Amino acid sequence: MSQLELNSDIDENFEERITYFADVILPIPLPGTYTYRIPKNLEEHIERGSRVVVQFGKKKILTGVVKEVHQTVPKVYEAKYVLDSLDHAPVVNSYQLDFFAWLAQYYMCTVGEVLNAAMPSGLKLTSESLIQLNPESDVFRSEVEYSEKELTILNALKSSDRLSFDQVSDVLGVKMIHPVLKSLLQKESILLFEQVKDKFKPKTVKTIRLSDQFLEDETVMQLLFEQLEKKQKQQAILLKYLSLTRMDEGESEDKEILKSSLLTGDLSASSLKTLVKNEIFVETEKVISRLDEIEGILQENHVLSTGQEEARLATLQAFEKNKPVLLHGVTGSGKTEIYINLIQEALENGGQVLYLLPEIALTTQIVSRLHKVFGSALGVYHSKYSDNERVEIWNGVNNGKINLVAGVRSSVFLPFDNLSLIIVDEEHESSFKQYEPAPRYHARDAAIWLAHLHQANVLMGTATPSIDSYQNALDGKYQLVELGQRFGEGKLPEFELANILTSRKSKRMKGDFTPELLEGIKSALEKKEQVIIFQNRRGYSPYLICNDCNHVPKCQSCDVSLTYHMHNNVLICHYCGHKESVPAICDACGSTAIKTVGFGTEKLEEDLKLLFPEAHIQRMDQDTTRSKYSYQHIIDRFERGETDILVGTQMLSKGLDFDKVSLVGVFDYDRIVHFPDFRSHERAFQLITQVSGRAGRKDDKGKVILQTGEPDEPLLYKIRTGDYKSFFQAEILERQNFQYPPFYRLIKVILKHKEKNILQDASKKYASRLIGELGRQRVLGPQQPVISRIRNLYIEEIYIKIEKKKISINKVKELVYKLGLEVKQHNEFKTLRLYFDVDPV
Ligand code: ADP
Ligand code: ZN
Ligand code: ZN
Repeated sequence: MSQLELNSDIDENFEERITYFADVILPIPLPGTYTYRIPKNLEEHIERGSRVVVQFGKKKILTGVVKEVHQTVPKVYEAKYVLDSLDHAPVVNSYQLDFFAWLAQYYMCTVGEVLNAAMPSGLKLTSESLIQLNPESDVFRSEVEYSEKELTILNALKSSDRLSFDQVSDVLGVKMIHPVLKSLLQKESILLFEQVKDKFKPKTVKTIRLSDQFLEDETVMQLLFEQLEKKQKQQAILLKYLSLTRMDEGESEDKEILKSSLLTGDLSASSLKTLVKNEIFVETEKVISRLDEIEGILQENHVLSTGQEEARLATLQAFEKNKPVLLHGVTGSGKTEIYINLIQEALENGGQVLYLLPEIALTTQIVSRLHKVFGSALGVYHSKYSDNERVEIWNGVNNGKINLVAGVRSSVFLPFDNLSLIIVDEEHESSFKQYEPAPRYHARDAAIWLAHLHQANVLMGTATPSIDSYQNALDGKYQLVELGQRFGEGKLPEFELANILTSRKSKRMKGDFTPELLEGIKSALEKKEQVIIFQNRRGYSPYLICNDCNHVPKCQSCDVSLTYHMHNNVLICHYCGHKESVPAICDACGSTAIKTVGFGTEKLEEDLKLLFPEAHIQRMDQDTTRSKYSYQHIIDRFERGETDILVGTQMLSKGLDFDKVSLVGVFDYDRIVHFPDFRSHERAFQLITQVSGRAGRKDDKGKVILQTGEPDEPLLYKIRTGDYKSFFQAEILERQNFQYPPFYRLIKVILKHKEKNILQDASKKYASRLIGELGRQRVLGPQQPVISRIRNLYIEEIYIKIEKKKISINKVKELVYKLGLEVKQHNEFKTLRLYFDVDPV
């Protein structure tokens, strides 16, 4: 025996003795992972990212995802064996696992919660409870006594080895099965387990083609016609088939057509069935892609202007140094053209590209622009798409068919394994932050970390940078690149302020419209130009009030007034969805003098219709854009010039590019700027600048008429003159003086409970523990939020403010988390609900 062979022999024996363990992420609301032993026969199927079936506790069988495979024997408990593996290849890749772990840690939630948010439900494991005999116990041992019902179940299990709850109920002939099952579980005679099934169903179509025998020979076809002579219905189908496939013109290939295209008009499905049965036609079921086929010719990219080219080069230089880039370019400066250029380059070099967009901006022009350039390499990931469509994008990214994804915040979770560029468009948008449920992540910030994992480049673009990102650029963490001018002859719009107070005094208002705005609309319409009317929604929905006693109808389970919806005359709670009809008399005093207060887009639309009866008016807000394509339709109609006036909320401000808009009317500035929140100035600057940017593109200068009661308000001047820098300087001073982000980090702790008293006790206890550890000045509250009860749960909030320098935020998070668990351990606080929101917006 040679030395070499001997060595390999030893190695083999050595391998025999190694036991592998898997740390498994389980879909339960408990932190951490659980360690299981991997049996020898499953070793080659189980790796990082594989889905496995394991037993959890005594009576449950669950499926989870393997986070790590290792050889360290767990010290505290004896590891059970993994029961089975579900996939041949991992469903979650290594980058994703690292990314999910980071998200859980940073945003203070469990990896299970991240996994839950990350995977389209079609890929998630759904479970259905089933029971089986417990293989580890001698079920029919003599010392256990069973009731008659219990024996019935056990016997049924002997013959069918598993039963669903419904089947158990059938076997027993009763609905109440839980007492029996509970007793069997206590006797350890059965096990409960979760049936695992993949929900994703591929989309299929049925196709029809002529059997091979008829393709070979003309005479066979002749015979066929003779055979069908008396069967007119069947013959009609044959003729239709021949004409659809152009075989009646002499083409004779094997032509497959959609069954649905054959069965149009009055052709009969049962005759076709007969033809298939008689083997004249062959019917096949085929899996097809749900993703829209791209039509048309791919378009050449535009040649960049000098300014754009300089910005592109500056960006590439920063990429060389691995620095994220903040591209500050006014609306219409051609940021999108630069993105397209960089995307092309990244794709040509074989990398993957993620283009993140706020929800609303996504379905529109930007996607069709990208489609024109990138064709079917582009996948779109949107929350209005069905789950099956999302699974296809997920799989497309996984198998390399899709290399460019334009998507909303959740597309950061997709299975990229070779990301080379992430673009965050409209970087300042607060809708990149998720509020509910956990993980409460910010897609822009998460994207920076994701890019770091992949060694990818990041480009954040906006006309109105967030204070946080701009400060990061000044600190040198990001590279600032600026584009100061609109493309071509485009000019930024001119502002006119319309004073509501003076017009009101002189009684020249018509409803809520100033004479200046009405005049502006009139003259635009005369010139066949389009108008956009912007009405902010936030904190401003119409409600009812009694003229005699001031009573306002409120939701019975939330602490908010009900919103009045004019078109169907109902009151709706915007927090829980509760609906009720509009009362004829006041609930409190019985008066009939009930009036509406406040107005929304709906009221504006009604008023405009009366003021400009000739004009085509459309409204765009949450109510008119519920279905998948409604947003798109409204935009299309406006683009084609079929709408003269478009009335809408902030939805209008997102990345839209219209040619014929000469006027933007702004309502409500005063309310936006005075909203009680430390970000209200930042929001006001962004919102008004963005919505104004819709006026006057290409070569025409547009106009903005802004209605206000305070024309001298200082921020307004900066908005009008487009002076971002002086806005930033004023704002950053305030942030510093009042200890807000970006100088301090915020963690919001949200506590909820059914009982107000218990909630207040728990909140006080928690806050005082936090103050004890962190100091009085770092803890604010507990306090009630503006809306202090939602869905019958009372709410309290505690804010934790941590300076960025010299303190380990990770240690603080650990401490906050630990103290929270300690509070929950008190008996009276067991049912307290506790949530964390890191970097709330
Ligand atoms: P932004 O994304 O900064 O708002 P866009 O990329 O949408 O700006 O550009 C505004 C308009 O100008 C678009 O209609 C775009 O097609 C056009 N445009 C910008 N740059 C160029 C270019 N280099 N060549 C041709 N058209 C351009
Ligand atoms: Zn009343
Ligand atoms: Zn409610």
